[in-house]
Amino acid sequence: MDRIPALFARHNIRCTPQREAVYSALEATESHPTALELHGMVAKKAGGISLATVYNTLELLTRKGLTRRYVHTSASTGGREEAARYDADTRSHIHFIDDQTGRLRDIPADLGVDLLSKLPADVIEQIEDRLGVRIDQVRIELHGDQTGSQAC
Ligand SMILES: [Zn+2]
Repeated sequence: MDRIPALFARHNIRCTPQREAVYSALEATESHPTALELHGMVAKKAGGISLATVYNTLELLTRKGLTRRYVHTSASTGGREEAARYDADTRSHIHFIDDQTGRLRDIPADLGVDLLSKLPADVIEQIEDRLGVRIDQVRIELHGDQTGSQAC
């Protein structure tokens, strides 16, 4: 059995060529595309696929836990919510959001692990105590602007 149909089967998602094309294209990119951008990528391969199908597939995949959906605001939309962006990488990782363009980028995994490992456990415990909750995941989002200089 092919990898993606097997993955869909494990998540109770009926496999169609269009759904497979959407997931495959999302998995192959690190650009965290919107449904519209992904439609542009998929339409080249799976001609005739509608934007509504791409959107509905992304919502289904997100509901089933195969993709993640991110919505945020940025200066590029005058502080209003951007179009949702999608990520096939559902592992815990940290995004950098360019406030001028609204684009999301993954920060290097080693630096993400390093940053999360430095969160003070005692402060997390105090938050749990004061709010009477149990925290099982911390998500961090980094916002800023492109500076032009970039180390390798
Ligand atoms: Zn990501």
